This record gives sequence, C-alpha cells and structure tokens, in this order.
Amino acid sequence: MLKVIYNEKDQTYKLHKNYPNAACCYKQILRAGARTTADSKYKLLSCVTFPQDFVVPPDVEAVITECRRPYSSKVLQKDGFSFVHPQKPDPTPSSSPEERPSVLLWGIDSLSRMNFELTMPLTYKYFREQPWYELQGYNKMGDNTFPNLMAILTGFNQTRSYSKCRPTAVGGLDACPMIWKRFKAEGYATAYAEDWASISTFDYLKKGFRRRPTDVYGRPLVLALEKELKKKYIKEIPYCLGRKSSAEYIYDLAEQFTEVHKNRSFFGMFWTNSFSHNDFSLPSAMDARMVKYMRTLDHNGIMQNTIIIFFSDHGTRFGLLRKLDSGFLEERLPVIYIRLPKWIRDKYPEFLDNLKANKNRLTSPYDIHATLKHILELDTPAEQLPRPEGCPTCHSVFQAVSLSRNCSLAGIDDHWCSCGGFTEVSSTDQMAKTIAEQLVEAINQFLISLKGTQKCRHLKLDKIMSVHRKGNSSVYLIQLSISPGGGFLEASAEWNPKTQKISTSVPSISRLDSYGTQSRCVQVKEAKKFCVC
Ligand SMILES: [Zn+2]
Repeated sequence: MLKVIYNEKDQTYKLHKNYPNAACCYKQILRAGARTTADSKYKLLSCVTFPQDFVVPPDVEAVITECRRPYSSKVLQKDGFSFVHPQKPDPTPSSSPEERPSVLLWGIDSLSRMNFELTMPLTYKYFREQPWYELQGYNKMGDNTFPNLMAILTGFNQTRSYSKCRPTAVGGLDACPMIWKRFKAEGYATAYAEDWASISTFDYLKKGFRRRPTDVYGRPLVLALEKELKKKYIKEIPYCLGRKSSAEYIYDLAEQFTEVHKNRSFFGMFWTNSFSHNDFSLPSAMDARMVKYMRTLDHNGIMQNTIIIFFSDHGTRFGLLRKLDSGFLEERLPVIYIRLPKWIRDKYPEFLDNLKANKNRLTSPYDIHATLKHILELDTPAEQLPRPEGCPTCHSVFQAVSLSRNCSLAGIDDHWCSCGGFTEVSSTDQMAKTIAEQLVEAINQFLISLKGTQKCRHLKLDKIMSVHRKGNSSVYLIQLSISPGGGFLEASAEWNPKTQKISTSVPSISRLDSYGTQSRCVQVKEAKKFCVC
C-alpha cells in the first residue's frame, strides 16, 4: 500500500500511497530505556496521519506505518521503514574521497565457505565473475560470534575483549575502542545494524550499547519490527517480519546508508543472523536476493569507491552438518570475499597481487582488523602499520601472508586450528578413556568455578564417539557424549603420558548439537553449552 521514494537530488524520502484514498499514519520509533535497558527498549510516538507523497522529516529515522480504508478503524496494512538521512559533511576531510575508500562489512552469521558454495550458488557464481577475491584459508579464532567479531573490530583476543570492553556491564561496550570510532574520528559516516534482536552480537547475555554506537544504528528499528509486526518463525528464527524477511530490513538499510553517503566516506557494518544461524539450508532462500543487493550496490556506483568485505564469523557450529566428517572444517572456515574499487586495484597493484596470493594461505579475523587499519592509511609502508594487540604477527591481507605461517602466528587457538593432519586412535584405548573421563571432570570443575551455575547437574561420560591424534603431537581431538542431556561435544586435550593427566581449555570445547532449553537455568554464557538444569 505504501512505497518509499528516495529523491537523490535533495536526499529526502517521500511516502507514496498506492491507493490515494487510504488513511495512513506513522509512529516514529525512538531509542528508549536507560542504563540496563538502554539497548533493549524502544518507544513509539503516537500515530501521525500524513498526506499523499509526504516528505519524511529529517529527524525521523524509523517508523511503523498503519494504513486503513477511509472511515474504517481496521488496520489493513502495517509496515516498518527506515530512513537514513545525510550526516553533516566532515568539515576538514584529511584527503579527497578519491584517496579515501569507504568500507562496507556485509556479514552473515554461521556461514562456512563450503556451505556458502552449496546454498548460495548464484552469489558464488556472481563473485567469481566479478573482481571479488576470496580467502579460502580464513580460519575463525574463537568459538562463536562475539570473539570473532571483536577480533575484527578491536584486534583484541577473547580475554581482552571481556576485560577491556566489559560487555556485561552497562556502558562497557561504549568505552570499547571499536574500529568504527577510528573511522568516525577521520570524518567517516558510520553505521551498524544487526537482525534478530535477542541473539545480536552485543546483546545476547550482554548489555549492548548505552549510547548509540554509530551515526546510523539499526537496533531500535529491529526491536520495534519484532514487537509490532507479524512474525513468521522458521527453526525458532523470526525469519519474516511483516511483509519482508528480517535480513532485508538490515540490507535495505545498508543500501540506503551507502546511497545517501556515496559522495563522502563511510564505514558500515551490516550483520544478519536470521537466515543462517539455526538452519544450514536456509541461506538458499536469500541467494537470488543477495545477487540483487550486490548488483544494486554496483548500479548505484557504491563499488567505485568502497572496499566491501562479504564474510561470516564461523561455519555451522551445531546440528547435522557438524556431525559429518567435514564438520571439523565446516565449523572452522567461514566464508570471506573482498572487493576492491578499480582505482585501488590500479593505484596499488601490489595489494591485488598479495590478496590473490593470500587466497590459499592461512588468515584470521585479526588480519581483517589490520586490513581495516591499513585502509585508513593506504600509503603507510607495511612495516609502520599498526598490528592487532591480540595477534602482533597478524597483518593486512593487502600484504603477502607467509607460506609457513601456522595457527599460532595467525592468532588462532590450537583447538580452532584447521591445519595439520589427524590420525584415528581406537576409542576403546585405555588412554582415550582416561582422556575422555578427565575432560568431563574438567567441565564439571569449570561449571562449579562459575557463579550462578548451582542448578547445573553433575555430568558423566556417556560414550566416546571418536579420537584423533593431531599430527605427531600429544594433542588429541575427542568427540564424546555426556549424560544427562545427551550433549555431543568435541574437545582438544593435550596428554602428558608421564603424569597421565590432560590439559585443556574448557571454554573452547565445542558443543555439536543444539543445547536448546537444557540450560535455561543459567544466564552465564560460557556455561550454556555444558549446563543441564
Ligand atoms: Zn556467529
């Protein structure tokens, strides 16, 4: 019933009624809440009736609209819209836009390189026909979304991400040195948006941001859409909100943000969970749409001056795919493609050569952090560029990665490292049994050591599924099930034959099936995958 028409000349939006007699009004969406609820509440202003081709005021960034037949009280159609208005231009840009590429991080949660090719063949084909460069040896550095995105956004390892950015304290993340602050300080317009409010990276069992972190911030819109519009769930994901898929609101916002700011520098991160997190086959539903988004960015001229990173944080972490033999690599190797504007390819041919050479080398999220910093100073000699704190041996992917690089040099913990061969060990072997029993005991001790886990039950080893030895090392990869609850785990443990004891990092142990509601009695994130209430 309603169409948003963008006027490129004066950068305004019009609300056009397809049925001119329809009575429509809009409710402005605002951030609300304070302290602990600052990032989880929104407020709707009362419904303002508007005429045909109403020009949206510049302070209105998101709305819920309602349309009725004339003199009818029944709402015929309800929608949600975002409007990105231009930021004031930077008064003193340090260099001309020609020398300052914009940056667009286009993210999809839980999508491996393998599964991307299987479920999004059209996008895969499009990337191969266009100047997109893949990093096939891109290996996650930590378990789930938060550490991997924080490595990109801050260069911190997981421990530092928690100690320095305190995501569970109100205002903790606000004080965190997110990379978008660097871009903002350089005069870039900034944006961040993510769908599926309850599991969003900075809000799932965390406090989110007290103040809006970027110029354009999608969260109030997403909170309102999920509450005000009709939802359709697929595999417990709010996949559709009203008449669009959840992800489309995020990517439409990206389209608006880049279009409005195309004549200045911008940095935007647009992240979606809603068509990939719980169902490995669902990305296929977005495949054709994704190609359309990419073609629109190209058509709008965005690609002429924007470095685009199309990426994920990790592969499928639980479920059927993870239990296959390929599940080990599935989880560890997220998809990532990078596109450089033509002028950068022409001006810095060595960047392109290096990026191509890095296709089959080992890279990690820390390298992407270093790359973002490199983008801020493209002419600085490689040896003078800043290195990520969490991985001082990591560097921009526009520099060649050494062929002899190993996981430790790429900042990737042993357990998440996909390099190195494995040999099978019999699961009835006495050492295998001892390792498995000690692992379960380590998990029990870990749960006891955490606050708020009193309701978690004592775990026992149920069955050893498989044991593999990593190369010639004393590190073993073990898959086992536990009881009660039947959790299916995969753990790395280093075996000391002298002491007959293992050393392991319990937080790094993977849970290969979904813990679902088993751990509803704990709110401690690290305990969720082990705790059975
Ligand atoms: Zn994730």
